[in-house]
Amino acid sequence: MRVISIRPRGYCYGVVDALALAQRVARDPNVPRPIHVLGMIVHNRYVVDDLERLGIVTLDGEDRDALLEQIQAGTVVFTAHGVSPQVKERARAKGLCVFDATCPDVTRTHQIVAERAANGYEIIYIGKKGHPEPQGAIGQAPGHVHLVEQREDLDALDLPPGPVAIVTQTTLSQWDTQDLIDACLRRFPEAEVFNEICLATQDRQQAVAEQAGDADLVLVVGDERSNNTNRLVQVAREIAGRPAYRIDTVADIEREWLRGVQTVAVTAGSSTPTQLVNQVIRYLQELDGDPTSALPPSPVQVRLPGARSAG
Ligand code: SF4
Repeated sequence: MRVISIRPRGYCYGVVDALALAQRVARDPNVPRPIHVLGMIVHNRYVVDDLERLGIVTLDGEDRDALLEQIQAGTVVFTAHGVSPQVKERARAKGLCVFDATCPDVTRTHQIVAERAANGYEIIYIGKKGHPEPQGAIGQAPGHVHLVEQREDLDALDLPPGPVAIVTQTTLSQWDTQDLIDACLRRFPEAEVFNEICLATQDRQQAVAEQAGDADLVLVVGDERSNNTNRLVQVAREIAGRPAYRIDTVADIEREWLRGVQTVAVTAGSSTPTQLVNQVIRYLQELDGDPTSALPPSPVQVRLPGARSAG
């Protein structure tokens, strides 16, 4: 099988830093126990499992405020997706030791929202409902940030008179987002636009658009909850015009997908461990004969870079 291994792909700087922070915290004997992460540190369950082996407990759920109420003592780590100021204050009021792994690119969107709202703006925030990143951004100026995921949300929007700013989530599809920004500008022509899709997301999407065109099939390795992973599947289908599937690991490759396929392009979301992606590439490269006759292997065990077993 010919494999196009799309680059750049996989871990971004925000994820690498968040994982390094979590591992430092886990290894420091002076950090109060228990150690909880408020949500998945990054959206990948294999990463979460490995952190658990280091003694870090992940509280899973969409609502950061509700998750925080489950922690009574010890340490809390905020994830790369960021949290609202209310969550930060509540954690301190509870006397918890706090570590913040918010990606600097997310922090930048928080600052834009807070500054504009303080200057009397209403904020149209283009983002994904139910994802933790918009929750943190909305919390920067409660009552003044309006989440828009699709055209219908914009149609239903009733803003008071005054200045408007348009701010985006960091991990959206560049193409969809531009369409939504244009629609917002038709309604609010004077609005200030802050397209905050991060560089890592843009580069990975652009790479799929440019490098997947020759492939018969595109496989995107990543977790179902990873927004940037799902957007890469969308880019492969809608921009590169190729059939594409998301897989957690090599074990999810369905042999039927490979029928008549000669070239597969492989990429990965920015929270996907490198070991999982490399295993997919190796498996496909070693396929010969009838690819539909070979069962994919079990996934490798993910170890974070430099991670020690906690026994
Ligand atoms: S995808 Fe972008 S915003 Fe999210 S952690 Fe990575 S660099 Fe930061």
